[in-house]
Parts: sequence; C-alpha cells; structure tokens
Amino acid sequence: MTDLDVEHKGMAQAAARLWSSRWLLAAGVVAVLSAFAFANISAYVLVPALLLLLVAAMLPAAGLRQSGENAAAIEAIGLQRLSGEYLAAAVADPLIIFDRAATIVHANAAAFAAFGGIAPGLSLPLKFRAPEMQTLLDSVLSGTIASDVVDYTEKLPVERAYRVSASSVGHGTDLYVLVFKDQSETRRIDRMRADFIANASHELRTPLASIAGFIETLRGPARNDPAARDQFLQIMQNQTGRMARLIDDLLSLSRLEMKPYLKPGTEVDLRQTVDSVIDSLAPLARENGVVIERDFAKGPLDVPGDRDELFQVFENLLENACKYGQSGGRVVVSIAPADDGSEPGIDVTIRDFGPGIPEEHIPRITERFYRIDVETSRTQKGTGLGLSIVKHILTRHNARLTIKSEVGKGAAFSVHLPTH
Ligand code: ADP
Repeated sequence: MTDLDVEHKGMAQAAARLWSSRWLLAAGVVAVLSAFAFANISAYVLVPALLLLLVAAMLPAAGLRQSGENAAAIEAIGLQRLSGEYLAAAVADPLIIFDRAATIVHANAAAFAAFGGIAPGLSLPLKFRAPEMQTLLDSVLSGTIASDVVDYTEKLPVERAYRVSASSVGHGTDLYVLVFKDQSETRRIDRMRADFIANASHELRTPLASIAGFIETLRGPARNDPAARDQFLQIMQNQTGRMARLIDDLLSLSRLEMKPYLKPGTEVDLRQTVDSVIDSLAPLARENGVVIERDFAKGPLDVPGDRDELFQVFENLLENACKYGQSGGRVVVSIAPADDGSEPGIDVTIRDFGPGIPEEHIPRITERFYRIDVETSRTQKGTGLGLSIVKHILTRHNARLTIKSEVGKGAAFSVHLPTH
C-alpha cells in the first residue's frame, strides 16, 4: 500500500465517522450556537469550539466499535488454533464424530471409557444396534434436520441411561457429532423419589383406612354400644397420632433436605445436649422399665454443629434403645474423645442390652421405612424414618454412624463427630 493509498483510506474512514456521528455533531453545533446567541460569547471562542467539535466527531469511537473489532479478531484467532480433536477431548461427556457413511472418524476419551471397542473406521450402526440409535443416525444423515435427540440405554456391562444428541457439524464438512449425556443418576433419584412417595402414601393410608372403617362401624352396628364406642374411639385416636408422627417425620426430612449445608461457626456442648436428651426421655424410659446410665468423659466435649439437629439425633437413638432394647432393662450413654487414630473427634455411644439386630439388617437399617419387624415398630409408635433422619443430619455434620450388635446381647449405635 502506497502513502497515498494510506492517506485516502484514512480520509475515507474520517468521513465515514463524520457521517455516523452526524446527529451528535448537529446537537453539538446547536449547543455552541445557542451559547453564542444567548450567552454573548465572542466569535474568538465560537470558531475554535466548532472546530474542536468537528475534530472530536472524526476521531474513532474508541470504546464500542474498537471492542467489537477486537472481539471479532480474538474469536477468529482463537478458532484458528482450535482443533476438533482437542475440543472433543475437552468435552466431559462421551462424544463421537462420524461421517456421511456413519463411520466413526474420532471418539473422545470419555467415549472410549464408556463404550470400549470403538475406533476410527468402525461402523456406528454396528456398534449401536438399538433401533432408537439407528433412527437417530438415519434422521441426521438424511439431511432433513440438523440435529435430533433420543433416549438410549446401554445394557452392558452395567445399565446406563443416556440422552443422545446427533448434529451435523456444518459448513460442508460432511461430518456429524454424537454426544451422550448420562441420565442414570437423575433416573435413580427419580425412582427413589417415586418409591418414597409410594411408601409414604402407603404408611398414611393404612391408619386412614382403619379410621374410616371404625367410623363406619360406629355409625352402624356399634351405634348403641357404649363400650365398643369407647374402644373404637381410642383406636382412632392412636391412628391419628400415628399419622401425625409420620407427617412430623416427613416434614423433618424435607426440611433437612432443603437446608443444603450447615451454618459454620457454632459449637455444641455434647455433655449438656445429651444430658437434656436423657432428661426429656426419662418418662419413656420409666414407662419401658429402662434405667439410663451416663458414662461421660471429663473435660470439654464440644463439637462444631447445630444443637437442635444433634439433639434430634441422640433423641432418636436413645428412644430406639429404650423401645427396642427394653428387655435389657438398661441403656448406657457414653461420650468420649475418639481414640481410633483417624480424624480427631468425639464419640457418643448409645448401648442397649435388648435383642440386638441381626447382621443382615444392619446395612439397610438407615433406609427410609426399613424396619426389622413392622409390627414391633408400629406398636412402639415408630414411623420407620427415625434412623434415616439421623443419617441425614450426621452427613450434614461430616459425622459417621457405626452400628454394632450381637443378637441376644443388644445393640450399640456410635456417632463419631469430628472436632473440626
Ligand atoms: P422406627 O420409627 O421404626 O423406630 P427407625 O428408623 O428409628 O424407625 O428404626 C428402624 C428399625 O430399626 C426399627 O423399626 C427397628 O426394627 C430397628 N432398630 C432401631 N434401633 C434398634 C435397637 N436399638 N435395637 C433393635 N432394633 C432397632
């Protein structure tokens, strides 16, 4: 480019800028002329002011336009450096690039890990034989649509559910891309929720059906039988109590689920908390003929946590020990600094001397609505949710629950709470 060319280009740009700033320039000229007319400023000031305006309008609009030009340049330079392979590798989901003949051109590491046995040159329809995958490939290869999505389940080695999208890469590359989004976890959570709702509804329905039955009897055959009426009303009262307890526990669980993390910085005095749990359960222990013994270590027994939630943990465990371990006649509650050599903490153990828990039930006992014996739980006013609430709270506290039991000798529920 010659000097003359450069000069011409510069002038053309200045003219273009002048044109694009014409309204701003017009407003400026009107403002300066008004000042000249009404504020009596002299022509010596007027002429340089107008010239200054003209020069300012011809200057490049630095901010906006320049940043727009820069963004385009950054994008162009960045994309030049981009390779399809690197981009595929950076995607965490399984991704397969294929050509018009549905032959694999490239697969990222996640695709190799998920499906194995895939390599460039392999036919996709041979690898993924499920009809929904064939339909997906056909629809995107036919060229009528640019992208499509299907749900696909890979059966082996373990069942995994994917949402698969296929799209054409575009710009005449004749290439296409398949991306697999793993939906297994979402499906598992959906199933758990559905099971939970089914269980909760069933638990509420049973007492409700019993109440409805007794109302019918009271209005019919037992209408004029005062003794039967009293007995049925008592049963109905027990059933409403059971429904209320269940709703309370369900609300407790849902409240815990809505509080995602624990407020940091609060210390809980375990000695004082466990003491008040024991005091509050003294009537239940007396009713069941159980003596509660304390075995607290000396010195401070504080841990970071939420006092109300930890109160609920020890209350559930001690209540279970008094109810299910009733035959042992005593329950020992101990608090001691943990000396197992792992992370420093404090262990609170609630030990009963009742029938104990058969080994096969121990891993499942904290599941919602899991009971060893449904009838015993019902007569003991259980809901089947106590230990799942305990587990939930302890997870929020980074704490651990260990259950040890010997059938016929009792059970020990041990909570390990980290001290920091
Ligand atoms: P529930 O409301 O039925 O008490 P939990 O979740 O608190 O529900 O306990 C689940 C089940 O675990 C109980 O139904 C009972 O069968 C068993 N269980 C809990 N604690 C003890 C214990 N100390 N001894 C024997 N069985 C226990």
